[in-house]
Amino acid sequence: MAAPKVAVVGAGVIGLSTALCIVETYPSCSVTVLSDQFSPNTTSDVAAGMLIPHTYPGTPIHTQKQWFKETFTYLFAISNSAEASEAGIHLVSGWQVFKNTPKEELPFWSDVVLGFRPMSEAELQKFPQHQFGQAFTTLKCDCPPYLLWLEKRLKATGVQMYTRKVADLWELHSEYNVVVNCAGIGAHQLVGDEKLFPVRGQVLKVHAPWVKNFIRVGDGLTYIYPGIHRVTLGGTRERESWSLSPDPGTTKDIFDRCCSLEPSLRGAQDIEVKVGLRPSRQCVRLQKEVLSQGGVKLLVVHNYGHGAGGFSVHRGTAKEAAHLVGECIAALQGSSSRAKL
Ligand code: FAD
Repeated sequence: MAAPKVAVVGAGVIGLSTALCIVETYPSCSVTVLSDQFSPNTTSDVAAGMLIPHTYPGTPIHTQKQWFKETFTYLFAISNSAEASEAGIHLVSGWQVFKNTPKEELPFWSDVVLGFRPMSEAELQKFPQHQFGQAFTTLKCDCPPYLLWLEKRLKATGVQMYTRKVADLWELHSEYNVVVNCAGIGAHQLVGDEKLFPVRGQVLKVHAPWVKNFIRVGDGLTYIYPGIHRVTLGGTRERESWSLSPDPGTTKDIFDRCCSLEPSLRGAQDIEVKVGLRPSRQCVRLQKEVLSQGGVKLLVVHNYGHGAGGFSVHRGTAKEAAHLVGECIAALQGSSSRAKL
């Protein structure tokens, strides 16, 4: 069989990292990325890019932990290399604070991040409205630079990238052997997945270079995440809202909530407002499917539905998707050698 042709649909963090894992694992494949939008116009560009997992209720915790660990290890190595600033990856320390002590004092990811510990009484004095907190160091991706870095690596390995809206995965059957669906919220229309829904998120990106520590309220609704150049202030979680227009009332509310945690933010400048739709599901859809029409088959691997935590687990899910692509290639090679006999 000639070099298998693989199309990856989608150029957010999931599509680009999946394409990279496929070429790294199966260098003889010819991989193409097809997407109607590239950076800076994807949901992944809006994200804060913090490595703090979101919990998927329909996925076993040990699987989620494995995905997070693989992602953390991968990005930690980048943060510790000469590539770190170009890739937009850096370590950041800070606090997660709670009004009341949570039921689960040790989240499943506490031994993956660095130096996880309860906050001291002295640290808690910074947050008079909160009674309990956790201090740790994690990684943050500055999202547009990280996406560009992934694109650059893909181009260097010969991966082609084309702007194309795919109306139906079947339209790719005559050009590709395997199609990988990383369309994010676009999968709602592309494959008619009714279990996938948007959770709208509005954030502010501000200039406040004196803010060096992250601060996150335990429910994940209010957060301050310093990046290399800008600080992300959040946020909102609006289930089933498809609106991409910023709401001025919400902007003021986010700013006020963040200033009550970190009063120095009153001096922040150059406020930009961004909105993104988290591609949410009970569990990430990471599985193979065989499409077939009139006796012709197309092998598909789905990798979408990462909701509020795509950056935190992207490398782990990309590795698993690449493994499924490998199984598809083995099946194709098996059937082509049987056909020759
Ligand atoms: P996307 O980035 O949306 O990419 C989908 C791609 O598919 C796009 O390129 C799109 O153009 C393409 N596409 C769609 N349909 C088609 C089609 N029919 N044909 C061709 N191409 C198509 N996660 C974290 O881990 N940490 C955080 O701190 C964090 N903060 C966030 C803050 C906000 C405000 C939001 C909105 C999200 C945040 N997330 C965070 C979640 C994270 O952004 C998502 O989980 C992640 O970006 C999903 O990536 P994706 O590649 O699946 O989707």
